[in-house]
Amino acid sequence: MELQDDFIPMTIGRQKNIALIAHDSKKAEIIDWCEQHKEILKKHFLCGTGTTARMITEKTNLPVRAYNSGPLGGDQQIGAKIVEGRIDFVVFFSDPLTAQPHDPDVKALLRIAQVYDIPIANNRATADFLITSKFMEEEYDHKVINFSKSIAMRARTLE
Ligand code: PGA
Repeated sequence: MELQDDFIPMTIGRQKNIALIAHDSKKAEIIDWCEQHKEILKKHFLCGTGTTARMITEKTNLPVRAYNSGPLGGDQQIGAKIVEGRIDFVVFFSDPLTAQPHDPDVKALLRIAQVYDIPIANNRATADFLITSKFMEEEYDHKVINFSKSIAMRARTLE
């Protein structure tokens, strides 16, 4: 890997760090989805926004590490973990029909997942396809923007 490369190789491990988030009208659906795919989810590390994580653990017994509630910064915590390389897979059942007080945080999470090339499902069909992908059992190599280069270039142009 060179400073001048535009992209750097990254690996999503066999055991994924999966974040689970659902808006209120979708909580029952994500619990049902977790129950449906429990045997697969058991093999990975799970975390989520506060209320979603707690409800999934209560209803399915899957261990889900809880961050803050979404409207209180939970989506931002998950976004920060993506930046740090500590979350590499997201299931986010958002509500397309209700305005959210933390809409900017929701957008920020979607954007940062895109920047870091993280698989992210925002509805059940996509989540079903992702969770049954052959890559769930394997390491996955992908390329992420080389921020060292981007910072060096920006600093130079702003001098
Ligand atoms: P919650 O947050 O799991 O704490 O309800 C989800 C969200 O609204 O982003």
